[in-house]
Amino acid sequence: MKPPGGPIYLLGRAATPGAAETRQFLSRNGVSFRWVDVDDDPLVRVLTPAAALDSVRLPCVLFPDGSILEGPRRFMRTRFVPATQHGAVPAVSAEDQQAYLETKLFKHELGTRVGLPTRPQHEFYDVAILGAGPAGLTSALYAASEGLRTLVVEALAPGGQAGTSARIENYPGFPDGVSGAELAASIHAQATRLGAEVLVGAELVGAMPGESGTLELELTGGTTVRARASIAANGVHYRRLEAPGVDELIGAGVHYGSSPSEAALCRNCDVVVVGGANSAGQAALQLADVARSVTVVCRADSLEQSMSRYLVDRIQTHNRIEIRTGAEVTEARGDERLGTVVIRDDAHGQEIEAGADALFVMIGGRPMTAGVEGWLRRDEHGFLVTGPDLLRDWEQPAWPLARAPLFLESSQPGLFVAGDVRHGSIKRVASAVGEGAMAVALIHQYLSTLD
Ligand SMILES: Cc1cc2nc3c(=O)[nH]c(=O)nc-3n(C[C@H](O)[C@H](O)[C@H](O)COP(=O)(O)OP(=O)(O)OC[C@H]3O[C@@H](n4cnc5c(N)ncnc54)[C@H](O)[C@@H]3O)c2cc1C
Repeated sequence: MKPPGGPIYLLGRAATPGAAETRQFLSRNGVSFRWVDVDDDPLVRVLTPAAALDSVRLPCVLFPDGSILEGPRRFMRTRFVPATQHGAVPAVSAEDQQAYLETKLFKHELGTRVGLPTRPQHEFYDVAILGAGPAGLTSALYAASEGLRTLVVEALAPGGQAGTSARIENYPGFPDGVSGAELAASIHAQATRLGAEVLVGAELVGAMPGESGTLELELTGGTTVRARASIAANGVHYRRLEAPGVDELIGAGVHYGSSPSEAALCRNCDVVVVGGANSAGQAALQLADVARSVTVVCRADSLEQSMSRYLVDRIQTHNRIEIRTGAEVTEARGDERLGTVVIRDDAHGQEIEAGADALFVMIGGRPMTAGVEGWLRRDEHGFLVTGPDLLRDWEQPAWPLARAPLFLESSQPGLFVAGDVRHGSIKRVASAVGEGAMAVALIHQYLSTLD
């Protein structure tokens, strides 16, 4: 997509905070731009006195009319507030909140100026969906095709986490795998063709129950929309393993998270698991049932620091699991598929090149619940609680109505949750898609209770 008026330039340094994300924002949304590294580009040295650059905040965007959009004072892509009791005010510093808001406004302004759809066309929708990952886009597709006026609000780019995966091997219907970007683009095109409106570069600022059972959603840029029902499909922000080769081999031996289906494919394989929390421990044990060898690589000095004792005991006594604490994966190698993982073992002062058929990265992720914390019930890790789980023995009641919550319904009647952000979800594309479709069926059921 060519921005209106001519080419745009994004200026920054390789290490400028936010430069990488701004490049990703533009390129994942198909906006053509030229990246100018102010330290490297010879034109900058010739044309710009060093002092001129000192007076602008990087990254900044130069538009064809000569105007400049400067980056926020501090780039803060996401903020995470630990889980609080229902209704409690989340503890977030005023500085962080300010930085987060400025970052959102920068993306919103940039999106608007390059011609992305950042503002809703209507004030009232049947369904408002937060997040355009596989869950949100599938909800949009089903809702729009079933005649509901549907709005999707996406902060970064359609496709979510799945859109960043080089190859998804386990999505039904693609025997040779499919690139995440391709899959995301197809679902996005299908949802918009069927009538869903998808905003990009827009984010939820705050939400509250409105009149007659509606929800009011305040979006970046100062617009407020009302919806009869909503779906939170905000996903999880996974920590990425920053080591050469890893990104290129995602889907070709490198996996984020682990599931029984991937474990089953590791029969007689040599496997490396990175991470030291319970999820890594459970994955290691599951993989060790079928793999030839499993090496757990953990940066901390001991697994006990963040893994439950029972898992540590089982891992330590398993004859096919080797544990390397005080160690890091520093490189992944392979041509078409992963073949070798380089491990720097600081505890033993060694660098090891280990043959590996699969690498599972499990170094943590945070649910993206900014805007709904302190309102919707979350579990101790911040995931949104839904359906029967709301009726558990919580310190304060989590469900306000006499009727039971529907499956996938959050503690706010009429607001449903789908995909990775939901407590107990499977964290896979196919399950996110399934929950996205299911949420729409439940919305019909919910709306019929209001008639
Ligand atoms: C590198 C990588 C590789 C993976 N590979 C595979 C694989 O091969 N197979 C597989 O099955 N799974 C894979 N997964 C997992 C899979 O991508 C996720 O399970 C899936 O994307 C979850 O979908 P989702 O829609 O719930 O959330 P997400 O994909 O996380 O999408 C959520 C979206 O919501 C947006 N958002 C968040 N907060 C807001 C807000 N306040 N306002 C507006 N928008 C917001 C985000 O920008 C994002 O686009 C992989 C994950 C990663 C990170």
